[in-house]
Amino acid sequence: MLDKIYNRLNELYPEMIEKRRYFHMNPELSFKEVRTPKKIAEFLQMLGIEVRTGVGGRGVVGVIRGGNPGKTVALRADFDALPIQDEKDVDYKSQVPGVMHACGHDAHTATLLAVAKVLCEYREELSGNIVLLHQFAEEVSPGGAKAMIEDGCLDGVDAIFGTHLWSTLPVGEVHYRSGSIMAASDRFDITIKGKGGHGAAPHETVDSIVVGSTIVKELQQIVSRNINPLKPAVVTVGSFHAGEAFNVIADHAKIIGTVRTLDIDTQDLIIDKLEKVIKGTCESNGATYSLDYQKGYPVVYNHENETNLLVASARQVVGEDRVKEIDPMMGGEDFAYYLEKVPGTFFFTGAGNVEKDIIYPHHHPKFDIDEEAMIVAAKVLVTCAINYLRETDEL
Ligand code: MN
Repeated sequence: MLDKIYNRLNELYPEMIEKRRYFHMNPELSFKEVRTPKKIAEFLQMLGIEVRTGVGGRGVVGVIRGGNPGKTVALRADFDALPIQDEKDVDYKSQVPGVMHACGHDAHTATLLAVAKVLCEYREELSGNIVLLHQFAEEVSPGGAKAMIEDGCLDGVDAIFGTHLWSTLPVGEVHYRSGSIMAASDRFDITIKGKGGHGAAPHETVDSIVVGSTIVKELQQIVSRNINPLKPAVVTVGSFHAGEAFNVIADHAKIIGTVRTLDIDTQDLIIDKLEKVIKGTCESNGATYSLDYQKGYPVVYNHENETNLLVASARQVVGEDRVKEIDPMMGGEDFAYYLEKVPGTFFFTGAGNVEKDIIYPHHHPKFDIDEEAMIVAAKVLVTCAINYLRETDEL
């Protein structure tokens, strides 16, 4: 059955390209998706798939019921774009000023639609069901996954698989990891309240810039001096705003940043140290502060059995030497929420190609993917689903 399915997916490649380019030209921002979910739902309905729209807000969930009873496996693709101006010189460039599919979610969507089409054609031969999760708003916390889960998208689901096309990995490769593969990504907003005054009279002020820059510097020591060097962690200050004039001591300062961790103990330790650093520095300088720490997406934690199944499935598609174990990435993904509820795995499908000049990283204005990665992703996802249903069918 798999060989026939692979041939069919090869045949559907032009259709995948057409769909991907349609989404690429018509990107929609997170939590503002309207036409994209409509287009997805229409296509699934046309295939005769049971579809639920507006799931968790804007999600689309399709169910393919197999001809025989069995387990239920979910496959997920996200469909939101980013607030970036497309700077590529291609005829499928974004038609929406300032909005761009710069993370490949257009291709995730086109891939899953092709998977849906093929699995529909083989519906009678399946022992079990396939749930297609088309997710809105992956890029912006709180994300779409959580809301879709709360709205029942995982009800009856036994396992889940998802992939991210990755432009800095070569097309034809599949990269996996059991355990933590992507980081918990949190945000902190610090406001320091000093005492503004004349730039020539520092002794009558509390300089929020000096206090703030001390905090920025001290924050660097959390990872270097407090965290076990074998535990990955990042503390990044991404924004520091204070003051307006050259001769005025700034009254207050705003510092915004992110914390990335792969385990809860490290995350808790950083949260604790962060506040101690801010509190201590402010107190010793006579400033006050407010801290707003927002936990974002949790760690993406891949389950061992499903990861093993992915590895075996991916080897069937691309061969042993092109399936590689990777280190975790410190980026975040709300696929994490699905994996908190059901076993599964999230993996990377290479989508870069130096010969075609597809070299730009995700979220870059010239980001693109090698569209052939969609065939690889589609084949691997289908193989995972079918292998999962087969294995559990024999139990
Ligand atoms: Mn993404």
